[in-house]
Amino acid sequence: MKLLLSAWILSVITFTSLSALAHTQADFYPEFLTEKIKVTIKSSPTAYRSQMALLKRMDIDIAGIDFKRKLIDVYVNSEEYEKLQERRFVMFGQVQTLSTPKSPNDPRRSGVDPLYKNPEQIEQILKRVNRAFPNITKLIKAGDSFEGKPIWVLKISDNPERNEADEPAILFNSMHHAREVMTPEVALDIIEQLTSGYGKNEKITSWVNDNQIWVMPMLNVDGNNKVWTENPMWRKNTRDGHGVDINRNYPHMWGSCNGSSGSKFSDVYRGPKAASEPETQTIMKLVSNIRPVFDISFHSYSELVIYPMGCDGERAVNAEIVEPIGKKLGELLGYTPGTSWEILYSVDGGDIDWMNNEYQVIPYVLEVNSRSEGFQPPYATTRERTVKKVRPAWQYLLEQLQTRVIVGQVRNSVGVFSGKGFIQVLKKVNGQFRYYTHYKLSANGRFNLVLPDGEYLLRNGFHSEGVTSFGHLRKTITVSGSQRMHVALE
Ligand SMILES: [Zn+2]
Repeated sequence: MKLLLSAWILSVITFTSLSALAHTQADFYPEFLTEKIKVTIKSSPTAYRSQMALLKRMDIDIAGIDFKRKLIDVYVNSEEYEKLQERRFVMFGQVQTLSTPKSPNDPRRSGVDPLYKNPEQIEQILKRVNRAFPNITKLIKAGDSFEGKPIWVLKISDNPERNEADEPAILFNSMHHAREVMTPEVALDIIEQLTSGYGKNEKITSWVNDNQIWVMPMLNVDGNNKVWTENPMWRKNTRDGHGVDINRNYPHMWGSCNGSSGSKFSDVYRGPKAASEPETQTIMKLVSNIRPVFDISFHSYSELVIYPMGCDGERAVNAEIVEPIGKKLGELLGYTPGTSWEILYSVDGGDIDWMNNEYQVIPYVLEVNSRSEGFQPPYATTRERTVKKVRPAWQYLLEQLQTRVIVGQVRNSVGVFSGKGFIQVLKKVNGQFRYYTHYKLSANGRFNLVLPDGEYLLRNGFHSEGVTSFGHLRKTITVSGSQRMHVALE
């Protein structure tokens, strides 16, 4: 009760001065929105899903959750706070005001622990790693941000200059959302572990030798810059000042299931059209070039493993593969696994849905850090603990690449298949082959499959003018055990 009362007083004090500002500068809405307070909503197992849906309909900025205790952290302005009170949400906290530093370019005023990295520091670290490990790394500019800043990705592999098509790829990307400052640290830890362990640790050495590992520590460089200079709780990129939520901007199911907002001032604004943002396009181009078998997109916070699809009731095309691995990751980390509509709310235009639908990637969002740690916990006491806690997840996927992946190629009479074909996978169930999954072939006729033990029939197919037909190439394979398989359809 005492907490509630002080929360109310604090919010009244804050918002009195804010409404004065709002009246004099009515069209200065985005600046006004940066003045928000953090409130925690106490939900219950029975009310959780409907309350989450209501919060999304109200376009409330949901920061993170404690799934087990059904606590929901939100950032609200005065108007939204009053609406939550009207709707009889039970709120308490640790109410914290988020002030906007008055002088930009003064990182000390942003309130972010200065030990976290800004875009320039990320670039310097990547260049240093690349210089120190030239034989196993290649630093590539994957694209440019809205403001024209470089977005870097580091490739880690033996022969990093070559595209070794028989080596499966995996992608780790961080910071779609600017305020999630722990996520580049996780990516930097992956880089550090793999480079410093190469040639010393047997497992690490074989992961690097046998795969093409891609790590992007910071996608949203513009937004992160804004976190340091203007607003520690900035989430989107910086398009036209209002910004776009990059992770609602991907083409799959864009804007289609109330999993994003059409309002420019919303924190989940989906953008003017699908894939409108240079950052979104950067990931799409990278994924279509490297065709990763697995992806982890690191976010914070809530300690969740999220797998596709994002819209209510939808499941991944290869859910029988994606979901058990996601649950295993949850078990390894002590995180809650599920689709976003099962454990959070509906999401449309998210990266993992697009990757899964377009290229049958097996992708996960990992929401690192607990609710008590939040977006920006003290670096000195939290960083090492967090990156160590996450290690079993990415190491598990690398080990899956070593032991479970099927590396295949379709070849025709002149050597290599080319064209817009796919592989259809049928699984033997009760003596009959039934449709199981499919995989879009890469330009050189390559495909990568991860399949549970069993007997499968692979055959090549084509889509042409809305008609699906099948070629004469087919092969039966038995998946069992723990070794990478190579398959050729010719
Ligand atoms: Zn996020």
